Amino acid sequence: MEALVISLTSLIVFAVGASIGSFLNVVVYRLPANLSILWPPSRCPQCLHKLGKRENIPVLGWFLLKGRCRHCRSRIPSRYPVVEGITGVLYVLVFWMYGFGVETLGYWAFLSWLLALSLIDLDTMTLPNSLTQSGLVAGLVFQGTAGFLQASQLPDGFKQLMVGIIGAVLGIWLFDIITVVGSMIFGQAAMGGGDAKLAAMMGAWLGWKYLLLGGFIACAVGAFAGGGAIALGWLDRRQPMPFGPFLALGAALSVFWGEAILSTYLRLFFPFS
Ligand SMILES: [Zn+2]
Repeated sequence: MEALVISLTSLIVFAVGASIGSFLNVVVYRLPANLSILWPPSRCPQCLHKLGKRENIPVLGWFLLKGRCRHCRSRIPSRYPVVEGITGVLYVLVFWMYGFGVETLGYWAFLSWLLALSLIDLDTMTLPNSLTQSGLVAGLVFQGTAGFLQASQLPDGFKQLMVGIIGAVLGIWLFDIITVVGSMIFGQAAMGGGDAKLAAMMGAWLGWKYLLLGGFIACAVGAFAGGGAIALGWLDRRQPMPFGPFLALGAALSVFWGEAILSTYLRLFFPFS
């Protein structure tokens, strides 16, 4: 019985996540082009034919259409259902880890922001200010709300809010350090201005401890992936590589396994503390 309830709830959570993923596809497509996000409704990018109710179902709609527009038969990129599926899975993972509560709602929002920013960075090599700034404010609201609800006292809300503010400030400093070190290693400006704002946003959501962890993961994975891509000839040494997706990956891993990673690390290197 309990397994059935959990499966059903997870399925609903997946559907919610996939619908948000469908909205993220719209944001990623329209925001860099300065188009309205809310109007017009979803349509074929080629012939502008409006999608029907069934075709608008996340993930399944794409398969119903066999990946082609019903009107003009042009291909609909498989990235759309993939992004919807990934968002759904992320939402289920957060739900399994944090259950019902303000943290679940918060991390759903945080991961949605991160996913949209990563995709836009991959597409355009920019991180729009409108998203990083709104994400930072949302992170501070999350910290204040979570702190207040958990202790139901106003001072604790402010204390938690300070955690977010300190994290955000540290995010910008951390970024400056990464830029200096990165340009020493790679001999060129390693990062764009948007990365600092993304790091600040991460600090607001995660606090300084997990911001450092996420930033460290981002640099390690980014250096490894960049080095590998250059070695394989996929990427020119002079060619800039978007760093936003790596920061987002580090932040997501901190949300899911930050505590486990930090405690393992502390036990390995400081066994007597
Ligand atoms: Zn079409």
